Amino acid sequence: MGWFSKSLWLVADDPDGSWWCDCRTGVVDATWHNKETFPTDGTGWLWSCAKCSRAFMFAKCTYIRGTLEQLARKQTPRKQKHISQSGEMVENTLLATPDDWLKLVQPIADTIRDGERYVFFDGRVFPANHGPIKFDGLYRSHDLPDLPHLSESLMEETLANPDYWDVS
Ligand SMILES: [Zn+2]
Repeated sequence: MGWFSKSLWLVADDPDGSWWCDCRTGVVDATWHNKETFPTDGTGWLWSCAKCSRAFMFAKCTYIRGTLEQLARKQTPRKQKHISQSGEMVENTLLATPDDWLKLVQPIADTIRDGERYVFFDGRVFPANHGPIKFDGLYRSHDLPDLPHLSESLMEETLANPDYWDVS
């Protein structure tokens, strides 16, 4: 098969164009996070695009052209600049090698199903379906009556609310 390989992975699902990524096909990048990134800015609950790095909320599982290894080679090393709490510009290498990238992506790729929609939420991946949600995330634990991505009021109380994420 060689040059014509396909892989099951996630692409932006944003038919209204309401999110920042406006690539024709916004392919999901590896979901790298730690406690120094800022969930109130969306980094803890949005996908980001491998081409433009911009964010979107829903991703759909589908076949993309090429292999995940090819995508991993294109996406690494991945660096990120951010302003530290003391106000300095810091640059970190998040994912140095294709293997680092695949270590995050492969477990997700192994569980997603063609045609299903998914959200990213505090280190985990969930189908974009209504229903109560309870888990320990990277930043804090969650015990919510519904998936907050699907509820405007719940989103205001939780995902978009700095107090919700401030667990210090
Ligand atoms: Zn994009």
